[in-house]
Formats: sequence, structure tokens, C-alpha cells
Amino acid sequence: MRSPDAEVVVVGLGVFGAAALWRLAVAGVDAVGVDQFAPGHGLGSSHGGTRMFRTACLEHPELVPLARRSGQLWQELARASGEALFEPVGGVLIGPRTGHVVAGTIAAAHRHGLAVQVWDAAELRDRLPRHAGIGDHHAAVWEPAAGLIAAEAAVRAAVRVAVGLGARVTTGTRVTGIELVGGGALVHTAAGTLRARQVVVAAGAWLPTLLPGIAVRVLRVPITWFRPGDPAEADRYGLADVPVFIRELDDGTCLWGHGVYSGGELKLGLEDHGGLLREMDPDGDDRRVGPDDWAPLVRRLDVALPGLDPVPSRAEVCMYPMTPDRQFVLGSPGGDSRLVVAGGDSGHGFKHATGVGEVVADLVRGLPPQVPVAFMNPDRW
Ligand SMILES: Cc1cc2nc3c(=O)[nH]c(=O)nc-3n(C[C@H](O)[C@H](O)[C@H](O)COP(=O)(O)OP(=O)(O)OC[C@H]3O[C@@H](n4cnc5c(N)ncnc54)[C@H](O)[C@@H]3O)c2cc1C
Repeated sequence: MRSPDAEVVVVGLGVFGAAALWRLAVAGVDAVGVDQFAPGHGLGSSHGGTRMFRTACLEHPELVPLARRSGQLWQELARASGEALFEPVGGVLIGPRTGHVVAGTIAAAHRHGLAVQVWDAAELRDRLPRHAGIGDHHAAVWEPAAGLIAAEAAVRAAVRVAVGLGARVTTGTRVTGIELVGGGALVHTAAGTLRARQVVVAAGAWLPTLLPGIAVRVLRVPITWFRPGDPAEADRYGLADVPVFIRELDDGTCLWGHGVYSGGELKLGLEDHGGLLREMDPDGDDRRVGPDDWAPLVRRLDVALPGLDPVPSRAEVCMYPMTPDRQFVLGSPGGDSRLVVAGGDSGHGFKHATGVGEVVADLVRGLPPQVPVAFMNPDRW
């Protein structure tokens, strides 16, 4: 290969790619980030104002070290950018005491020695009275280290800090193909070809279009914001009353969200849209959100978090790039170090993004990652 344009090209500057670019720049690696849109855009998976952070992860027992490291790195990014990107407002996981949310969180906390409090139903009713319909078989796990990340601001901050450290960024440029060649990789774009020693693909929902061998399905996820039905009640739905939460209901579905953070709105969703998620084409136009999207959620809010206007004040579409086991894809397919993939976030990746970025930077440099990543191996299927 002729002399490269960069040591590393990072394809995609959503939160995974932005964090990877930042950690590569911190490590002194010459890197170029490329995105088809501008960082912080609303067409991928990293938009919608906020993302919930917690370290007591139910999704996989080995995610906890990644979450912990990510928490440290969110603080580091906040310091480096001079922005308050993370609000440690605490978070609560609610549900039947023996259900997967509460029991799974307690198990993760015990296994990793995480600081949590377990509340019985009476304490839960007392502390968080906005949550209605709490039966005696319910319990909650309070994690003080949980909180909210400012989503678009975090993506932009990571890119900006990376650029300050020497990274280069090309936006408005779509990568049309990636070719692994002797000595590196060719990254083809509409504007020409970039030559690099290595390429990091962090293309989110577009991952299957660039690397069709990776098992990712793209699911359409509505995001909705609500206001209290009575505007005079707005003060009763702040983050102190409705902290960051995941709540398993008795029908097995999970509500998630948080109280008013900005703009007088609560952000609320129904995990997996109550089982109604459908596939979408990230380049298609299936982005309008309507009553069919929020009806399953609103039905449950009436019971679990009453008092809200049943028509959302705002709604958007987001995407889950979903893998068969709902774990991320992080590593080099076939062990080929010219290519590192960071994607398949399966709807729970934002909190881990800074840690993912650090793992990418380690893999690029041939260093062993500092946290367990084998369960995210791209070759596991
Ligand atoms: C509704 C919703 C709520 C969520 N809540 C949480 C939460 O509370 N906590 C949590 O931890 N996680 C949460 N997640 C998951 C989290 O948001 C994602 O894990 C994360 O945003 C994934 O980021 P990404 O960088 O992989 O993807 P993206 O943000 O989609 O970034 C991919 C980027 O690649 C670019 N790109 C793709 N293809 C090309 C190409 N060919 N050429 C150039 N550029 C390209 C895209 O333009 C895009 O900018 C939620 C997700 C959704 C949808």
C-alpha cells in the first residue's frame, strides 16, 4: 500500500466512534473520523437528549467492569471538555422481588461489590410515591452511582476533545466500502479513498450495510417525552421524585425513563416497545411516530406512573442494532487486526461507550483490553 493517509480511519462518529476517536487521540494514534452526518445528529442511535448510566448491569455479568471503567472515563471526558456531561442523580430498578430486574441487579451488585440499597415495597412507596401500583411483592434497588449522560453533548465533546489532541474529522461523507489490502485498509467514500493501516467500523445501524457478515438486525424504537396532565404538578415529577429508573411490571414488560431533566418533560419508554419492535432500514423514511407507537406505553403509564398527559409532548425514532444474544460486537473478525468493529449495541451501549472507545484503542495498538471483552467477540456466531 502507498503511504497511508492515516494510521487509523474510524468509520462512524456516533457515541462508539466518537469515544474511539477520543481514546485513540489520547493514546497518540494518528486517526481520522468519518461520518455521513455531523456529530450529535438525530438519525442514528445516539440522540434524544439523555442516556441512563448505571454500573449494576443486568444485561451480562461481565459488563460491570466495562461500566465502571466507562464511568471513570465519562468523568475524564467531562473534565477534558469542560462540560458537565454526566449527572450522578442516582437510579432505581423496580419490580417483583424475584423478577429479572430486581433479582438480576442484586446478583450483579453482590458479585461485583457495588454500592446499592435494596428497598422493600413499603420503603419504595414512601420514597417514590409517583410510582403507583406497587404491590407487597415488589422491591427496588437504588444505585447512587447511576445517573444521566447528556447524549448529543457527549458525542460532540468526544469529537471536539479528540480534534484538540490531533485527530482529524471528515463529516458529510458516506463510506461506501471497506477493502482490506496488503499492509492495511482502503476506505472508499463518495469523495475518494482513504488509505489506513487499520480501520475501526463503528457504524451503528449501518454496520450490516458495510460488513454484511456481522449478525445485526436493525430495530425501530420510538422515544417519547411527556408532561404532567396538570401543569401545576410539574414540580412533582422532577428527578428527585422520578429518578432514572427501569421498572419491570407484573406483565413482564419494562418501563424505563426519568423525571423532568430539562424542558419540563419526562422521558419515558417501554423496553422492546412491549415486544412490538419492528425492523427498519436506517436509510428509509419510517421515522414518523404516532399513536400506535405510544399506545402500549401510555396504557401502562396510566397504572404505573399516573397523572401525565397521555399524548407525548415530543416523539422521535431511534434504532437498536440488535445482535442475537443482545451483547455488543467488539473486536477484530477472524482476528485480523486491520479491522476493529465496535457496534451491535443492542440498545444498552451508551453508558459503556467511553470504555468501548478505550478497548478499541487498546486493540488497535495490539494491547490486551483492561476489561473482559471475550463475550463480545465478533466471531461468536
Ligand atoms: C431509545 C433508545 C434509548 C436508549 N437508552 C439507553 C440508555 O439509557 N443507556 C444506554 O447505555 N444506552 C441506551 N441506548 C443505546 C445507546 O444509545 C446506543 O448503544 C448507542 O447510541 C450506540 O451508538 P453507536 O455509535 O453504535 O451508533 P450511532 O450513534 O448510530 O452511530 C453510528 C454512526 O455511524 C455513522 N455511519 C454509519 N454508516 C456510515 C457510513 N457508511 N459512512 C459514514 N458514516 C456512517 C452514522 O451516521 C452514525 O453517526 C438507547 C438506545 C435507544 C435507541
